[in-house]
Amino acid sequence: MKNFADFGLEPRVLQAITELGFEEATPIQAQSIPIALTGKDMIGQAQTGTGKTAAFGLPLIHKIAKEEERIVALVMTPTRELAIQVAEEIGKLSRFKGIRSLAIYGGQDIGRQIRALKKKPQIIIGTPGRLLDHINRKTIRLDDVQTVVLDEADEMLDMGFMDDIQSILKLVPEERQTLLFSATMPANIQKLASQFLKDPEHVSVIPKHVSAPLIDQAYIEVPERQKFEALSRLLDMESPELAIVFGRTKRRVDELAEALQKRGYSADGLHGDLSQHQRDTVMRKFRDGSIDVLVATDVAARGLDVSGVTHVVNFDLPQDPESYVHRIGRTGRAGKEGTAWSFVTPREMDHLYFIERVTRQRIPRKPLPTMAEAIEGKQRVIAERVLEIIEQGELTEYKGLAIQLLEQYDSVQLLAAAMKLLTGDKKESVDIHLTPEDPIRAKRRKPDIRSGRKPSGGYGGRSNSGGYRQNREGGGNRGGYSKGGYNRDGNRSYGSRDGNRNSSDRRERSYSGGDRRSSNRSGDE
Ligand code: ADP
Ligand code: MG
Repeated sequence: MKNFADFGLEPRVLQAITELGFEEATPIQAQSIPIALTGKDMIGQAQTGTGKTAAFGLPLIHKIAKEEERIVALVMTPTRELAIQVAEEIGKLSRFKGIRSLAIYGGQDIGRQIRALKKKPQIIIGTPGRLLDHINRKTIRLDDVQTVVLDEADEMLDMGFMDDIQSILKLVPEERQTLLFSATMPANIQKLASQFLKDPEHVSVIPKHVSAPLIDQAYIEVPERQKFEALSRLLDMESPELAIVFGRTKRRVDELAEALQKRGYSADGLHGDLSQHQRDTVMRKFRDGSIDVLVATDVAARGLDVSGVTHVVNFDLPQDPESYVHRIGRTGRAGKEGTAWSFVTPREMDHLYFIERVTRQRIPRKPLPTMAEAIEGKQRVIAERVLEIIEQGELTEYKGLAIQLLEQYDSVQLLAAAMKLLTGDKKESVDIHLTPEDPIRAKRRKPDIRSGRKPSGGYGGRSNSGGYRQNREGGGNRGGYSKGGYNRDGNRSYGSRDGNRNSSDRRERSYSGGDRRSSNRSGDE
């Protein structure tokens, strides 16, 4: 079942789906909606970007009566941003039916939330902490809740919400439906499920092929100190509509955002140290396109659903393969194409191979764009913009002057000058200094790495359930590295260039070095 009309959803709900432009149900939707409609409990495993909100949202909206004045559905999400996103999506899906939903999260004035609650929303979407706050103040009562959704359950537990979730679930009537969604299924999720779900149906979406061959991935080998130049060239060459650039640390994000601004790019940074107001402002600017480069840490970008991200750049390689998968999944969403580049310093090559093995895909190498390519790219964009303006017309008021100028100067020269002006000064001369980051050391997981098996714990589940695993070659091209690990086929140029001695040196350094840069990572929020 793929067509939304086949689910038996009521016309006003279908109308909203059509309005949103959803043509067919995503795999997780196709599997979850029929189960959710029956009222059974369910566990759904699928990556971000696979359409889980509608998977649980549509059945909720279908079932709830417009006249209902009680809170009959409760959705819990790990973060404020996700609560807002889910509420927005549910708002859109319920537009024609007129169901009322409300996001409840920390950091927003509680008085305002209490006033909003007086409008009798039927669906509450909230973060566990703030929900408990309201429950304790008796501004939210869960006595009438019929459906509970735990969205991104693994993230909630990672963030330490286990106790809060348990307290909340104990206050919801036992006669209810519970739906749990999670990207991974670690033991604590299973424990939570066995405690609070009754005979749940399991649904999991592990795409074997095609579902997202839409992310064009590549890596560029570049020394740490040339990364910024590489980034500028890439941005100039491709002029992304919306790009997310990932940095490893908060300091990195700050420095990089500032450096990009100095060079004339419209960029801003997002990380955990910003106030919520600042984060909201940055996100709004990114969503409405007033900045087109968002520099972010993993934590800050987690789960954010911004549609239309055309490019992801791993300015710094992530430590975990699963972060890699998460990061690149910010693009190529909802059937659109995306590009994901990773900068890899020479000493991090082994770590890249590790990411390839765990995520079971080959990431092709790409040369650093040349200055000429960057300039050509910039000029092409300007030319496109000029042609767009011609198409729009409305040039009458400029025509008089144009004719005058053409009488005195050569047309090619005039146009070239105008284009130069439009290209703007990207302030190439401004000095940029970024504090260097140490290379990532590959984790010590010798047995797994050598056997090519999935490392135990953590990685396997997530990378396997990704909505974006590429498999363009249909699996035929995998053996080369999934079996042998180092036995890579042909076109890795680094090996022959640097010689074997060097690369085994590197391997030694990387795999035996105990210095994991965990301090940086855990310092990020
Ligand atoms: P998840 O919760 O799995 O991360 P979301 O529910 O946030 O995913 O959906 C990701 C994006 O895909 C949203 O912008 C959503 O509007 C869009 N989307 C959801 N379902 C469909 C569909 N059936 N067709 C097209 N786009 C969809
Ligand atoms: Mg979601």
